[in-house]
Amino acid sequence: LMAAVIGRRPLEDGLHIVGGHTDAPRLDAKPVPLYQDGGVALLDTHYYGGIKKYQWVALPLALHGVVIRQDGSRLAICIGEAADDPVFAITDILPHLGKDQAAKTMAEGITGEGLNVLLGSLPAAAAADDPEVKDKVKLGILRLLEERYGMVEEDFASAELEVVPAGPARELGLDRSMLLGYGHDDRICAYAGLRALGDLEGTPEHTAVVLLCDKEEIGSVGATGMDSVFFENTVAEFLALARPRGGDLALRRCLERSRMLSADVNALHDPNYPEVSSPNNMAQINAGVVVAKYTGARGKSGSSDASAEFMAEVRRVFNEAGVVWQTGELGKVDGGGGGTIAMFLARYGMDVVDCGVGLFSMHAPWEVAGKLDAYMAYKGYRAFLAHTRR
Ligand code: MN
Ligand code: MN
Repeated sequence: LMAAVIGRRPLEDGLHIVGGHTDAPRLDAKPVPLYQDGGVALLDTHYYGGIKKYQWVALPLALHGVVIRQDGSRLAICIGEAADDPVFAITDILPHLGKDQAAKTMAEGITGEGLNVLLGSLPAAAAADDPEVKDKVKLGILRLLEERYGMVEEDFASAELEVVPAGPARELGLDRSMLLGYGHDDRICAYAGLRALGDLEGTPEHTAVVLLCDKEEIGSVGATGMDSVFFENTVAEFLALARPRGGDLALRRCLERSRMLSADVNALHDPNYPEVSSPNNMAQINAGVVVAKYTGARGKSGSSDASAEFMAEVRRVFNEAGVVWQTGELGKVDGGGGGTIAMFLARYGMDVVDCGVGLFSMHAPWEVAGKLDAYMAYKGYRAFLAHTRR
């Protein structure tokens, strides 16, 4: 998605962009997902993004997605979010029999191939006594899918079905100061950005843009990822509609003179795991939106390191607008690392810096964010989109 408020100055003078992603770690149904084993029907999945597999068992799950039938008709699926909807689950070994599992590493205790979602257990009524029909429970699920959704088994081949934790975000803490929710990474920033754009007052000096992409969690690849030319093409379309119209030079200038907040989440200092924190340089919860000059791993590898000049500009804009902000490092220097979409925009020569909400339990089924931090992300994005350069 690219949304914009056209500014007073020509596009060639550059855009003010807030860019985030709307995909989140999850379990995707395989193309042939439905099977029966041990008297139950199961959905075979392939996980998407960086998950800790042991976190996805024994909790209520919902099914979201889209099925495109052979005739092109579209079926939207959402099961498990309404209070009276059924939910789904992945089973775990009971502790009584878990001795061998408990001796495995956390990466091996639950495997990717083991993430099979429990879908049903009732044999199809008419087939219950028919010895000719194998997999009667699977048949029962197929009949339900046909009756309720007009869907046949082959339709799974042209579907995108995603298994995610079931239920809404909740207030967290006796003081209700935090939010527990699925997919804060990166919807908490994406939503704040879109709201900030919608709440701009008047016409900004520079064209304000919110850019929300897919596939960030698997490397920003593909036609909908930030490593595609969607953004560049769309800016070219803008320039073709503008007065005066822009050619390729105007496009290059527009991109190079643009500035972006890469609106993505960051890690927080977690008192339960101080051993992975960088002393004095970790963001704390409800201490403001996090500005991260760089990310990366093993010596900033894979990072887009923002310039001191741009850091100063963002700092000035935030301080003048009364935005509560803090700097952040992803964690201990040799502890690991990560990246965002920042580098894919920085390649145009534009100034980019990571700026978003800090999280506990990033990539877990339920992530934790601070309410003040979420509000300050919104306030910071709004000030950045509208600001006048000096
Ligand atoms: Mn992210
Ligand atoms: Mn992520």
